[in-house]
Parts: sequence; C-alpha cells; structure tokens
Amino acid sequence: MPEAGTLHDAFIDELRDAYDAEKQLVKALPKMAKKATSKKLRTAFESHLEETRGQIEKLERVFGLLEQKVRAKHCDGIAGIIEEGESVMDDDFDDETMDACLIASGQRAEHYEMAAYGTLVAWAKTMGHSDAADLLEEILDEEKAADAKLSALAEGGINQAASEAGMDDDDSEEEDEEPTPAKSTSSGGVRAKATGTKKKTAKR
Ligand code: FE
Ligand code: ZN
Ligand code: FE
Repeated sequence: MPEAGTLHDAFIDELRDAYDAEKQLVKALPKMAKKATSKKLRTAFESHLEETRGQIEKLERVFGLLEQKVRAKHCDGIAGIIEEGESVMDDDFDDETMDACLIASGQRAEHYEMAAYGTLVAWAKTMGHSDAADLLEEILDEEKAADAKLSALAEGGINQAASEAGMDDDDSEEEDEEPTPAKSTSSGGVRAKATGTKKKTAKR
C-alpha cells in the first residue's frame, strides 16, 4: 500500500490548484472587462488581469523554490464560480445592474482565492517554507486589494446607479405594479406614466 499523503503533499496539490485557478481567471477576466459599462470597473478588471498574469509567474517561482515541476491541477471551485459568472453575463440586465452583477461575480472569485492563499500562506509558514510564504502572501494581498477595490466601486456609485436604472421609463413592463391604496390621487384614477420623461419615481 502506498504511504498516506503528508501536509506537504496537500500543499503541493493546493498550489497546483491555485495555479490552474489563475490560468482560468486569465481567460475569464477579459470577458468581464468587455461586459462592463463603467469605465472604472472595466479598468479594475483589466488591471487585475495584469496582476493575475504576475501571480502566475509568482506561483512558478514558488514551484521553483520548492523544487517542484510547474504543474496545474484542474480547479473545480473557480470553474464553478466562472460558470455562474458567465451565466449572469448571458442574462438580460440593464447596463448598471450588469455592472453590479459583474462585481458580485468578481468578488466571489476574489473570496475563493483569498481562502486558498490564506491556507497556502499558513501551511508554507508552518512547514518553514518562508520564501514561498512571502510570495504567496504577496498574492494574498493582491487578492484582498482587488476585492476591496470592487467593494469601493460597488458602494461608490455602481449599486446606486443600478438601483435607479430600473426606475426610468423604459422598463416599466418589468416592474411589479404595487397597489398604493394609501395615496390619494388627483388624477381621477388615471395612472400617470412617465414615458419619455427623465423624472424618477419614488424609491422602492
Ligand atoms: Fe489571483
Ligand atoms: Zn480550487
Ligand atoms: Fe484575483
């Protein structure tokens, strides 16, 4: 019977998984950038794409430090997150809502990566691979910064824009017609429709 695997074996497996995840993200990020309407959001995806290419190189250096061949092992987790993101991109949302959804998908990926690199850093430190730990921590910090950047964009206007986008005239068929019995109307029961105006209706 073969000997049971060690923490070091698990560590190498997780490195291969992370390496594969970054390679999948290098293919996914350009699609997300292209789908973004907000210029700031597009730039954020593009700059994280560049960072991700750098992370692939950092991981290759980590394999070298550990005297391991550079090898990828299919990451099912990130594949699932990317698949969900692609299905949202195929949905028919207004531009502002799509931006909010792209952030939501992006943050799922960042959090997955933060979990993976958090573990890798801790394991590398435990086993005394301090040079590898430093490189992995650099990647972890980049993932955290990318996540924080997406939160800042969402909370700095994109979510608000998305919440207001549906209140313009053009999508009224999508909206539930809520009864408003408390409000008296001066229009004799004729429903005022804001077609063609920029006037926003009350907050939902
Ligand atoms: Fe990454
Ligand atoms: Zn994975
Ligand atoms: Fe990332």
